[in-house]
Amino acid sequence: GPMIEAVDLVREYRMGEERVRALDNLNLTLDGGQFVSIVGPSGAGKSTLLHVVGALDVPDSGTIRVDGEDIGRLTDDQQSEFRRRKVGFIFQFFNLVPTMSAWENVALPRLLDSTPLRRSKADAIELLERVGLGNRANHRPSELSGGQMQRVAIARSLVMNPRIVLADEPTGNLDSHTGQAILDLLGGLAHDDSGRLVVMVTHDGGAASVADRSVTVRDGRIEEAADTP
Ligand code: ADP
Ligand code: ADP
Repeated sequence: GPMIEAVDLVREYRMGEERVRALDNLNLTLDGGQFVSIVGPSGAGKSTLLHVVGALDVPDSGTIRVDGEDIGRLTDDQQSEFRRRKVGFIFQFFNLVPTMSAWENVALPRLLDSTPLRRSKADAIELLERVGLGNRANHRPSELSGGQMQRVAIARSLVMNPRIVLADEPTGNLDSHTGQAILDLLGGLAHDDSGRLVVMVTHDGGAASVADRSVTVRDGRIEEAADTP
């Protein structure tokens, strides 16, 4: 079946007496092995959608299945467990631990998972090599460029071998040349033989065009889904 299946998703935020429908009966199906961009105006519901898909948030109604699991009614503990097993996250501002080296940042999820240090380090370095940073393993984030920090974050997102990778404005803090290289790397994560799904929220017009599929969110719904040739 599809990697993501969202049916009639509703997520409302209450602000005092006000109610905002961030997701308004949203329907979306995404297959594995694809690089998908989510675009749309500010406040359209893109981040909320990403958070529901990544089990950072739960819908008020509707169903959300990710890799065959219904994640719409999980407890907090079940949500964390699901995220650890299935999801990698990438952010605009990298979210690296500043006091840790590149390899330690990448290895951290494994170390928290009680994987032995030697094994965690070897796997982290292999992932850093995959993103072209094998020679920066001992550098701290402050000693790296923005593009290099995002490569570390991409390596970290892969360390638990997730079925989906969710990226929120991954090129938002990078110049266009560096951003393009990051987009190529993200596309590669979907197009290897893993069957992984990579979903990116972006304002970057160039970003949308390199994706296999671009989906527009407006007023909490999917407006259109056009396949790029
Ligand atoms: P986008 O990512 O497309 O900019 P969001 O998903 O962040 O949109 O927000 C969708 C709507 O939900 C907006 O109207 C926003 O103000 C509202 N919203 C998002 N998060 C919260 C929150 N934690 N509390 C209240 N309203 C929120
Ligand atoms: P925005 O909605 O403004 O785009 P982000 O997408 O950067 O913000 O992060 C949204 C929220 O999700 C943050 O409050 C962050 O604490 C939380 N978050 C992100 N990743 C994780 C994670 N792996 N585990 C727990 N919480 C997370």
